[in-house]
Amino acid sequence: MWVTTHFFAGAALTRGVCLRAAPWAGIASHAALDAVPHWDYTRDSRRRYWAALDVAATTVALLGLLRTGRIDSKQAIGGLAGALPDLDVLGAVLPVPDAPRLFPSHLRGFPHGRAGMKKGILVQLGLVLLALGTMRARS
Ligand SMILES: [Zn+2]
Repeated sequence: MWVTTHFFAGAALTRGVCLRAAPWAGIASHAALDAVPHWDYTRDSRRRYWAALDVAATTVALLGLLRTGRIDSKQAIGGLAGALPDLDVLGAVLPVPDAPRLFPSHLRGFPHGRAGMKKGILVQLGLVLLALGTMRARS
């Protein structure tokens, strides 16, 4: 699943947890979301562009959500912790031959969800919008 989706989900899910649990909740959300059928760009010929767009979107979201008060620093930690395991798939984007994967949902045998591009992007967009719906601007 995209880094952006993992960030939004991690940030949304850590809203109601304590600061100590936030990183763990974010990481756990990563494994759970990787089981949902989705489309990954890691096998697409344009994967480097997709990855740049993904990281840029996550950065803009992080800064925008913090600036507007839609998330607090605890949720930012949860969101970043949710996105962090995807450092594991850098080898698929950068020219690093046979880089080992370490995160459980990236290993062979994990029931990693797969979908076509259109459906897989729509699933992730839906998850981002669902997460965004839980983030209200503070007055
Ligand atoms: Zn993943």
